[in-house]
Amino acid sequence: MVDFALTEEQREIRNWVRTFVERELMPLEQEVLRRERTGEGHGLTPQELHDLRQLAKKSDFWGIQTPVEYGGMGLDAVTTALVEIELGRTFVPFSFGGSADNILYHANEEQKRRYLLPTIAGERRSCFAITEPGAGSDAKAIRTRAHKDGDHWVINGEKTFITGGNEADFAMVFAVTDPEKSADGGVTCFLVDREAGWRSEPIPTMGEWGPASLVFDNVRVPESNVLGEVGQGFALAMQWIGRGRYLLPARALGACERLLTMAIDYANTRETFGKPIAERQAIQWMIADSQVEIEALRLLVLNAAWQVDNNRDSRHAQSIAKLYGGLKANEIVDRVLQIHGGMGYTRELPIERWYRELRLLRIYEGTDEIQRRTIARDLLKGYVKVGATLG
Ligand SMILES: Cc1cc2nc3c(=O)[nH]c(=O)nc-3n(C[C@H](O)[C@H](O)[C@H](O)COP(=O)(O)OP(=O)(O)OC[C@H]3O[C@@H](n4cnc5c(N)ncnc54)[C@H](O)[C@@H]3O)c2cc1C
Repeated sequence: MVDFALTEEQREIRNWVRTFVERELMPLEQEVLRRERTGEGHGLTPQELHDLRQLAKKSDFWGIQTPVEYGGMGLDAVTTALVEIELGRTFVPFSFGGSADNILYHANEEQKRRYLLPTIAGERRSCFAITEPGAGSDAKAIRTRAHKDGDHWVINGEKTFITGGNEADFAMVFAVTDPEKSADGGVTCFLVDREAGWRSEPIPTMGEWGPASLVFDNVRVPESNVLGEVGQGFALAMQWIGRGRYLLPARALGACERLLTMAIDYANTRETFGKPIAERQAIQWMIADSQVEIEALRLLVLNAAWQVDNNRDSRHAQSIAKLYGGLKANEIVDRVLQIHGGMGYTRELPIERWYRELRLLRIYEGTDEIQRRTIARDLLKGYVKVGATLG
């Protein structure tokens, strides 16, 4: 039996987030657009974000995937995907408070006290730093080096495109500790406080937020700041990257739903040659194709999340959802812009903003080409059989 019905709890959570987005986030859209367009800032102010998170916390929306023993909701993957879809319906960037990077749970008790718990509490901010100018898709090619000096490690190298790198209080930095072994037991993850001396520089992008480059110039960290075990960093990095690839297309799916709704409204009201453009087949096909792709993406996202919840190896399904989501979200936003004609291209409407933002989905956390590589490898090596999704 294939059961597509949501549980009562899932419906309640989804509906609560939907109302929160409509009541609290959507009213801020015009102000966010105005701010960004006048160069006053990006997204929400820290105070607005804090207030919204506290408001959500009053309704127990805090740490949605954080385990219950750490004060979170401990939601399963399917429910988290439903939450992300709802949050994607606005371009106001928001996430619920009370969460920390998944690999910080590998910290020892002392590290948990200094890094994990303050991050969950919102007192400290982290960033995940593996990419380098010479190592993106090919993460195994990282060159940042850490060598031992007494009971300290000394880190030298440069990281690039690090989300939150300019704001973070500490970085999870991946460095080569044994060049001979490299990614096979020679990469280690370090928890590196900003006070240890690394520098960051924002990187302007076509989106409304920018990652940063980080420079490590003889940065010394004590042995006690190794996360996990020496030499086991690459496995941790892969665990971070694989933590929830389905969440990216889930958010894009929410954006596509909102964009398609905008296109439908516009098509019904905009008249050319004496008729609403909604009566033209060229417009109807764009609307129909977008709806078909949105529904296909929903199944791919929820299937990937379901596999996570059922302890299956979800990597193949997650790659499919990420690839399809990136491609289709970009096609859909392009169609919606086209349906709006010249208005779609203006900064009066948020469509061009989504157009720029959704482009990123095809690049970070594994480009389209890298997802295709994974999917093809799984099939060609026989790890996954064609048509075996349902077992
Ligand atoms: C906004 C943003 C935020 C990011 N945040 C982070 C972060 O927080 N932490 C972090 O560590 N990294 C982060 N990244 C880095 C991101 O993961 C990399 O940009 C991405 O993995 C691609 O690497 P690259 O840019 O070096 O491209 P490259 O790897 O140089 O690829 C260039 C092109 O070649 C293609 N290509 C590469 N290898 C193959 C292959 N084998 N077969 C076919 N085609 C191939 C790629 O798909 C791409 O089209 C971020 C990037 C951006 C843009």
